[in-house]
Amino acid sequence: MQEMTRALEALNTYFGYDSFRPGQEQAVNTILAGQDLLAVMPTGAGKSVCFQVPALTLPGITLVISPLISLMQDQVRELLAAGIPAAYFNRSLSAGQYRTALVRMRQGQYRIVYAAPERLTAPAFLDICRELEISLIAVDEAHCVSQWGQDFRPSYLKIREFIDSLPKRPPVAAFTATATTPVRKQIISLLGLQNPAQVVTGFDRPNLTWQVRRESDRKSALAHIIRQRQDQSGIVYCATRKTVEEVAEHLQKLGLSARPYHAGMSEEKRRQTQDDFIYDRIPVIVATNAFGMGINKPDVRYVVHYQMPGSMEAYYQEAGRAGRDGDPAQCILLYSPQDLRLQTFMIENGEPNPELSAEEAALVQKRDMDRLFQMRAYAQSTSCLRSQILRYFGEDPKEDCGKCSNCLADYEDRDVTAVAMALFAGIIRTGSRFGQKRVIEVLRGADTEFIRSRNLKDNPAYGKLREHTAKSLEELTGQLCENGYLQITGDYPVLSLTRKAIRTISSHSPVVVKTATSTQRYTVLAESDDLFEALRQTRRELASGHRIPAYAVFNDATLHAMAAKKPCTKSDMLRVQGVGDVKFRKYGNAFLRTIQKWNRENGQEEEAED
Ligand code: ADP
Ligand code: ZN
Repeated sequence: MQEMTRALEALNTYFGYDSFRPGQEQAVNTILAGQDLLAVMPTGAGKSVCFQVPALTLPGITLVISPLISLMQDQVRELLAAGIPAAYFNRSLSAGQYRTALVRMRQGQYRIVYAAPERLTAPAFLDICRELEISLIAVDEAHCVSQWGQDFRPSYLKIREFIDSLPKRPPVAAFTATATTPVRKQIISLLGLQNPAQVVTGFDRPNLTWQVRRESDRKSALAHIIRQRQDQSGIVYCATRKTVEEVAEHLQKLGLSARPYHAGMSEEKRRQTQDDFIYDRIPVIVATNAFGMGINKPDVRYVVHYQMPGSMEAYYQEAGRAGRDGDPAQCILLYSPQDLRLQTFMIENGEPNPELSAEEAALVQKRDMDRLFQMRAYAQSTSCLRSQILRYFGEDPKEDCGKCSNCLADYEDRDVTAVAMALFAGIIRTGSRFGQKRVIEVLRGADTEFIRSRNLKDNPAYGKLREHTAKSLEELTGQLCENGYLQITGDYPVLSLTRKAIRTISSHSPVVVKTATSTQRYTVLAESDDLFEALRQTRRELASGHRIPAYAVFNDATLHAMAAKKPCTKSDMLRVQGVGDVKFRKYGNAFLRTIQKWNRENGQEEEAED
C-alpha cells in the first residue's frame, strides 16, 4: 500500500495528475505486487502511465519493448520534458550514439529504456540487460506477437526467449488495444506471461463524437470540414496511396495546409512530415494507415476517414487517435457504397503473410471479409454509432450517446414500393450483371451506344421508369443498398438483389427505407476563449525555446483547465490537472504571468498571494 502512495506521488509530481484513471490503478497495483499483467485498453486510455509510474518507484531499470521508432522517440521526448531520464535503442541511432547510450545505461543513468524487439538479440545490449537489475519489462502493442493480430511482427516472437535468458525474471506487463479473445490468448502464450492479471478497461471514449456522412462529393465535403476547423490538428485517412496523393493535392490547390503521408515516401520525408505535424507547423495530414501507430500527439481534434476502412478494429484504432488529451474531438466517416468493393479487392489481393499455411491464409481472409461486413453495417446503420462501437467490442451500453450523427438525425420511414419494384425488375430483367449506371439507363429508356449495342431497347424493363431523373434513381439505389435490399459486388461493380429483396417480392411486402430528413448542423467545438489563446501563445513560445512539441509543455486539456480556473498562485496552479512539480518549475511562472496579464487587461481583481 505504501508503494501505491509513492506511485500516486510520482503520478502527481511528474505527470501532474492527481488520480489514476480506471484500469490504470489496477495495472500499477499488479506490477508493483510483482505479478505479470495483460492490459487491454483502448487508444487514449493512458497505457503508458501504467508502466512509466511503476518505473519511477521500482529500484532498477524498466525496459519497454515497442515496435515503432516514432513511438519510442515521442515517448522519450515527453519523459525527458517531464524530468525523467530515459533513452531508446533502435536503428535510428548512429553507431556513436548507440555506444554512448549503452555506456550511460550501464552506469544506471536511465530509469526507462525503450528498445525495438530486434535489439533484444544484439549481443552488447543483451549483455547489459543481464548485468543490470531490470525491475519490469513492458511490452507495448503486444498484439504484434500474434499472427491473428493486425500488425504481426515476427521479431516479437523473440521476446520470450530474451526474458527467459535473464538471470532473474522480472514481472512482464503486456499492453494492447486489441480485444479479441484469440489474440489475447496468443499474447499470453507467446510472451510466456505467468498467471497474468488481466485488466480490461471500458472502450468508451466520452469525449469523442461519431459521425457517418454519405456524401456524393467527398472532396468538397472534406474541404468544408477542414475549413471549419482552421488551426486545429486533424488526420484524414484514405484507403490507398493514390487517393492520399490525390486528396492532399486537391486540398493544397484550395489553399489548405495539408501534407500527404504513406509508406511509399522516403523515410526522411515521412519523418519531416510527422515532425511538422507534431510541432503544429502543418495542421492536416492526409495518410494511409501507415500513419499513426507511433503518433502520440494528444491534441488531434478530428479524424476523418475519407473512405471506409476494412474493419471496426482498424476504424476504432485510427479514429481513436483523436482527442487523447480528453478534450472534445470528432471522428467522421465519409461513406460511399463503392468502398466495399475497394476493401474487398484489398483483402483478396493483399500480400499473403509468408508465415501462414494456405489453410490459415484462407481462414484469415474469411475473417477479414466478415470484419469488413461488420464495418459496412456500421457505415449504413441508422442507430446510435457509439452504442454500436461499444457493442462490437463486447460492451453493453445502457443508453444512446445523443450526439452522434445518427442520434442527431431525424429519420423517417418511407414507402418506396412502387419504384423499388420496378428497379428490382430492371435488375432481374437485365440478368443481374450490370452496374447501377447501366441499369438506370435501361430503366430511363436512354438512347446510348451501350443500349444500342446490346439491343436493350427490346428489354421488357426498357423505359419503365422514364419519368424519374437519373439522380433520384441513384439516390434510391443508394438507400436500397443501405437498407439491405440491394448489393454491389464484384470487381466490376454489379448491382444485384439481396435475399431480403427477394423475400419482399415473394411475400408482396412493402419496401420501406429509413432516410434522414434533417441532420442537425454539427457545431464546431472550438470556443475561442482569448485567455486560452494567450496561454497557447505562451506555450508556443516555450515549446520553440525548448525545441519540444507544444503538447509536451502542457496539453490542450491542461490549458483549458487553466483558462477556466485562472490560477494566480503556485499552489492554485499545482491543482490544475496536468501541472506537476517538475513542469511547474520549468514552465509554471510563464503561464502565471500570462494569466496575471489577462486579469489586469480584463479588469479582474488579483487574488491575494498565499
Ligand atoms: P494510450 O497509450 O493508451 O493510447 P497515452 O498513454 O498516450 O494513451 O495517454 C493518453 C493521454 O491521457 C495522454 O495525453 C496522457 O497524458 C493522458 N493521461 C494519462 N493518464 C492520465 C490520468 N491519470 N489523468 C489524466 N490524464 C491522463
Ligand atoms: Zn449516438
